[in-house]
Amino acid sequence: MLTPNDLLQKALDGQRLTPEEGLILYTQGDPEAIMEAAHQVRLQKTEPGLVTYLVDRNINYTNVCTTNCQFCSFYRPPGHPETYVISREALSAKIEELLAWGGTRILMQGGHHPDLRITWYEDLLRWLKATYPDIECDCFSPSEIENIAHIEGMSIERVLERLHAAGLDGLPGGGAEILDDAVRQRISPKKTKTETWLHAMRVAQRLGMVTSATMVIGFGETMEQRINSLTRLRALQDESLAAHGNGFTAFIMWTAQLSETNSLGRSRHRHRYGADYDEYLHTNAFARLYLDNFTNFQASWPTQGLEVARRALYAGANDFGSTMLEENVVSQASAYTEKEPRMSVYRLHEQIRLAGFDPAQRDSRYRIIRRFPRVMSREELAPRPLRQRGILVP
Ligand code: SF4
Repeated sequence: MLTPNDLLQKALDGQRLTPEEGLILYTQGDPEAIMEAAHQVRLQKTEPGLVTYLVDRNINYTNVCTTNCQFCSFYRPPGHPETYVISREALSAKIEELLAWGGTRILMQGGHHPDLRITWYEDLLRWLKATYPDIECDCFSPSEIENIAHIEGMSIERVLERLHAAGLDGLPGGGAEILDDAVRQRISPKKTKTETWLHAMRVAQRLGMVTSATMVIGFGETMEQRINSLTRLRALQDESLAAHGNGFTAFIMWTAQLSETNSLGRSRHRHRYGADYDEYLHTNAFARLYLDNFTNFQASWPTQGLEVARRALYAGANDFGSTMLEENVVSQASAYTEKEPRMSVYRLHEQIRLAGFDPAQRDSRYRIIRRFPRVMSREELAPRPLRQRGILVP
């Protein structure tokens, strides 16, 4: 039987690990050695001196949701006094600000609203594309697509075809959590099951849309269940790349955010949940080795904080995520974003350079938009209308 060191070498040699081998390496291998190997693989697969980022904005169009996930602090049930559905005026103001920052994408997600019909989503997308033709719209995770399909009595294929025709560019990878139904049944029994999540992504990829893969650890899942989740992502990536060359653009992982504002955080079993920074770095690095058909791995500063995110750049990650001019979901559960809810481009550059890399702005397909071979001043990176008025932002 191969030892963890043999398996580490096997991964470094570019050979695929089986699920059984992955489990041995993940649970018995030296985490420091795994991180170092993950960094070596990252240097081979992506431009070594560069760390990329996206200027975008997370917009949550509604907090109405009927699904009650135990880890969610964001949703409000229908009829609750704090529910909202975003207005076009509010959406415009957010996108105008994004444009001032040189932003290129909105990532728009929301709860499972029981009354919004597919025409509401189509109208919204058509209006977005007509008003902001340069902004890419990556919206609605697989579980929201399933919710629309359920409301309309329509197939997931048909919903995605219609939304894509209306202007949907990509499907964010949210809602994957752990792709193992035993875990999903325990923490979010009303939410999309594993096969449906994968199916929605499969269809979106066939339609040529931008998709990302995510994993959240710390729901009391076993190591085997984490490997199951990664194995399913890897299999779909194989399938889609072979079929049409359009697979997941990146893998993004974070840890469950526990707080008094969600059921898991209030649970008397709270001690069974969550994952610390070391576990985050170890798992992200292992994923870099195991997901041998993925190119880009993000460091998650909103959930882990800046220091850990910088360390992740030496544990397999090659991308610093995005500015996230707005975040409303994880930040409601005592994530890092409570302390620093917005990240300016200047601050993002500062973090990437502090870690020893040059920053480069990318689009959602990880194509480089702009390189920054020299250190840019705060003034040079300030949003344009503010800079023109002589007002600088932190
Ligand atoms: S995570 Fe999404 S689906 Fe689950 S309760 Fe929150 S808004 Fe609803």
